Amino acid sequence: MNIAIVGTGYVGLPTGVCFAELGHNVTCIDKEVSKIESLKDGKITLFEDGLEELFHKNLSANRIGFTTSMKDGIQNADIIIIAVGTPPHPMTKEADMKYIHSAAIEIAEYLNNYAVIAVKSTVPVGTCDDVEMLIKNKNPQADFDVVSLPEFLREGFAVHDFFNPDRIIAGTDSIKAQNTIKELYKSFNGKAKILFVKRRSSETIKYASNAFLSIKIHYINEMADFCEKTGADIHEIAQGMGLDSRIGDKFLNPGPGYGGSCFPKDTYAMAHMACANEVRLTLIEAAIEGNIARKKEMAKRIAQCVKHIEKPKIAILGLAFKGGTDDCRESPAIEIIEELLKDDTYDIAAYDPKAIDNAKLLLGDRISYATNECDTTKNADILAILTDWDEFKNYDFSKIKKLMRGNKILDLRNILDGKKIKELGFEYKGIGI
Ligand code: NAD
Repeated sequence: MNIAIVGTGYVGLPTGVCFAELGHNVTCIDKEVSKIESLKDGKITLFEDGLEELFHKNLSANRIGFTTSMKDGIQNADIIIIAVGTPPHPMTKEADMKYIHSAAIEIAEYLNNYAVIAVKSTVPVGTCDDVEMLIKNKNPQADFDVVSLPEFLREGFAVHDFFNPDRIIAGTDSIKAQNTIKELYKSFNGKAKILFVKRRSSETIKYASNAFLSIKIHYINEMADFCEKTGADIHEIAQGMGLDSRIGDKFLNPGPGYGGSCFPKDTYAMAHMACANEVRLTLIEAAIEGNIARKKEMAKRIAQCVKHIEKPKIAILGLAFKGGTDDCRESPAIEIIEELLKDDTYDIAAYDPKAIDNAKLLLGDRISYATNECDTTKNADILAILTDWDEFKNYDFSKIKKLMRGNKILDLRNILDGKKIKELGFEYKGIGI
C-alpha cells in the first residue's frame, strides 16, 4: 500500500519505518525542514531502540521517503496517517488542535483519489468529525473516510510495540475504510486483533487508557508514601498486589511522578473534556494534582539531604522522562531540577545516556552536563537517580564512592540494590522502603 504519514516525530517516524519494514511504500511528511533534510541524508532524528537499523535498511531499499511537501507526500496515498502533535494549550491545558486542523486543511487541498485519513494523534472526542468537516468544506469533491486510529506505543519500545501490539483500535463505520485498515495490518496475520468501534469511542479509548495508567502510577506513589511511614516495603506490596490478575503487575513501580509527552497532557485534556461536558472525573483530577505535588516533594527530599552543606554539589543520573528514550518533554527529572534551581545554592551536574541534547534545550547552561557517570559524581555531596536507565544499575559504585565527596544516594526510581549499595558505605534511600 502507499502510506503517507503527516508528522515525523516520536510516533510518525517509528510508525513510518515499521510500515516500510512490512513492505509498504511510505512517505513521511513534516513541516520542519531541518528534520526532513537530516532524514533524507540518512541521519536519524530521535532515539528509539532498534529504529536506526530499520531506518537505514528501508531507506536503502527505497521503501521510505521524506518530504516537506504535502502535495508530493500524499499523492496516490491509499491511507494518510495524521501523527502531528496535540500539545496542551499553554493557558487552558486542553488539547490544542491547531496542528490537526491545519494538517486537515492542507490534506484537503491535494486530495485527488479515495483515501482513508487515519488520525493517529491523541485527539479529543469529536475531532475526527471536525477533520471530516474541514476537509469537506475545503474540497467538496474529495472522496475519503476519516478513521480514528489511536497509537498505543510506549516510547523506548516503539519498534517492539509496533510489531507486537496488544490491540489495534480503529474507529469507523465505513466498510470501505475498515477494509483499508485490514489491508494495512494484513501482514500481522491475525496476530493483532483489530477492534472496530465507533469513532468517538476510539478517540475516548486512548484518553481513558492513559488516564487509567496515570491513576495507577499515582496510586502506587501514594502507597509508597504510606510504606515510608509504616515500615512496610513497597516492593513487597507491589509484588503481592500484582499477583492478583484483576490488578496486574504492570505500572506498580513507585517513582518521582509520571511524565513524558502523553500522560500529563492527556490527563489534563481528559479532565478538560469532562468539565466541558459537565462530568466530574475526580480520580483523574486527584492524579493530576498529586503528580504535580510529587515532583516538588522529590526536589525537597534532595534539598533536605544536603541542607547543612554550603554550596552543595548535586549529581544527577537521568534527564529523560524514562529510560530508553531521549525525550525530555514533561520529564520529572527536568521538573525536579527546575524546582532545585529556584534556590541558587546548588551546583548541579547531570548525565544521561541519550537525552543531554534535549535537556540542554530546556535547562541551558544553568546546570553542567557530564559525559559519563564518573564526571557527574566527582566531588558530589549527593547522587540522585531520576531516570530508570538500565545502564545505571551496572555502574561501578565502589569507584563512584571514591569520587564523591559525600556518601548519599537518593534513588527515586528504585533501580539499585539498596542492600549492596549500603555495604559499599553509602547512605541509600529509595522510594517506599
Ligand atoms: P512530535 O512532536 O514528536 O511530532 C509531531 C511532528 O508533527 C513534528 O515533527 C511537527 O513538526 C510535525 N507537524 C506539525 N504540524 C504538521 C503539519 N501540518 N504537517 C506536517 N508535519 C507537521 O509528537 P509525537 O510525540 O510524535 O506525538 C504525536 C501525536 O501522537 C500526539 O497527539 C501524541 O499525543 C500522540 N502519541 C504520542 C505517543 C508518544 O509516545 N510520543 C504515543 C501515543 C500517542
